[in-house]
Amino acid sequence: MQTNFSLAQLADPQTARSEQVLRACVHCGFCTATCPTYVLLGDELDSPRGRIYLIKDMLENDRPATAEVAKHVDRCLSCLSCMSTCPSGVHYMHLIDHARDHVEKTYHRPLMDKLTRALLARVLPSRRLFRLAISGAMLARPFAGLFDAVPGLKPIAAMLRLAPARPASRSASEDVRRFAPQGVRRARVALLDGCAQPVLRPEIDEAAIRLMTRMGVEIVRPAGGGCCGSLTHHMGKEDLALANARANVDAWWREIEGEGLDAIIVTTSGCGTTIKDYGHMLRTDPAYAERAAKVSALAKDVSEFLSEHELPTPVIPAGIRVAYHSACSLQHGQKVRVAPKALLAKAGFTVLEPAEGHLCCGSAGTYNILQPEIAAKLRERKVANIERTLPQIVAAGNIGCMTQIGGGTALPVVHTVELLDWATGGPRPAQIDALRIAA
Ligand code: SF4
Ligand code: SF4
Repeated sequence: MQTNFSLAQLADPQTARSEQVLRACVHCGFCTATCPTYVLLGDELDSPRGRIYLIKDMLENDRPATAEVAKHVDRCLSCLSCMSTCPSGVHYMHLIDHARDHVEKTYHRPLMDKLTRALLARVLPSRRLFRLAISGAMLARPFAGLFDAVPGLKPIAAMLRLAPARPASRSASEDVRRFAPQGVRRARVALLDGCAQPVLRPEIDEAAIRLMTRMGVEIVRPAGGGCCGSLTHHMGKEDLALANARANVDAWWREIEGEGLDAIIVTTSGCGTTIKDYGHMLRTDPAYAERAAKVSALAKDVSEFLSEHELPTPVIPAGIRVAYHSACSLQHGQKVRVAPKALLAKAGFTVLEPAEGHLCCGSAGTYNILQPEIAAKLRERKVANIERTLPQIVAAGNIGCMTQIGGGTALPVVHTVELLDWATGGPRPAQIDALRIAA
C-alpha cells in the first residue's frame, strides 16, 4: 500500500513503524473472512482492511480520532486472527496498538466511557483493588439488569455479570518468592506474578508450580513484578502499560544477572503476547531496550516450556474428553498451536477441536466489558461449537477465555496446566465433578 507520510512524521518511531506495517498491506482482503467482527457485523470498516484504511487516513493526516474511527478501533478485539491469515505478513498488532494510543490521546470520549476505562485501568492491574471490586460486585450483581437499561452503563452490567459468584481464597503461596525443584534441578525459571488471574483462579499458578517443581524446575517470582501491562496497553493507556513493563523487566533482570533464568513462564496467554513484545514496546528507551528484548526472548507460555521437557507419567485413566479452546493470544499472538494439544494427548486426554477454532470467544482483555453485545454473540457461537464436540471438560490457556466461556456453559472450564498437573499426580481441579468424570 502506498503511503504519504512526511519526513517529519516519520521521525516519530511509532509512525515509522506504522508506515512499515501499512506498506506491507496489499489490500487483498483475505483477512476479512477470519475477522470475528467482520463475520458478525459484515461492515468493511469492522474488518482488518477497513480499519487499516481508517488508521492510515487518521495518521497520515495527523488528525485527531473521530467518533467513527474510535468506534471501529474500539470494536477490534486485538485477537490477531488477521495476522494468521494475512499472506503479506502485515503486523496488524503494532498498527492497532499505535491507533489505540492515538485514539486515547486525541479523542474526547463520552464521560461514562472515559470513567469506565479509567476505573478498569486502575482496578484490574491491582490485586488489592480487584479483590475489593469483586466483593463489591457480588453485592451489586442482582442489580445488573438496572444498569443494562441505562445507555452508557452497559459495561457496568457486563462487569457485574462477569464477576465470580464468590471470591476465590487467596493462595497460601501467593507471597512465596522461590519454589525448590524436586530432585535434580533441570531448569530455573521466573513465573509472572500477574494481576487478575491470581485473584480469579489462584489454582492455575498453584498447578503450574506443582507440576514444574515435580519436573525438577526451580521457580522464582522476584519481588517488584506484577501486572504485565496488557490490559492498559489494549486500552491505549501506553504510559501505564510501559510502567508495568519496566517494573517486570527490572524484577526479572535481577534474576537474569544473578543466578540466571532459562525462561520466563507465563500462564496467561494474553500476558505472554504482551511480554513477548516488550522488546518492541521499550525499543526507544535506551535504559530498557536491550534488557526488554532479552526478557521477550526468554518469555514462554507454560505449554511451550512443558513441551520441551519430559512430563511425569500419567496416573489417571486415559480417554477423558477435553475440548481444547485455543486462545487467540496463544494461537494468533504467539503462534503456539500444537504444544497444548500434544501435551493433553500425552497426558491421556482425548482432545477435541471445536469448529471455528480461529474465532475469538469475545473475552479479549476488557472487551467483554466495553463491548458486551459483540462479546456475548461471540461467546454464544464459541460455546455452541464447543458443546457440539460433546466434551466432559473444556481447557484453555487464558483466564480471560476461561471466564468468558465459563459464563456461557455448565461444562467445567479449566486451564490446560491444571489438567496436566491433575493427570500426573496433582489434585483434581475443583470445577471437575468426580461423579461425572470417573477418574
Ligand atoms: S490480508 Fe494482509 S495484505 Fe491482505 S488486506 Fe488483509 S492485512 Fe492487507
Ligand atoms: S485483530 Fe481480530 S477483530 Fe481486530 S481486525 Fe484483526 S481479526 Fe479483526
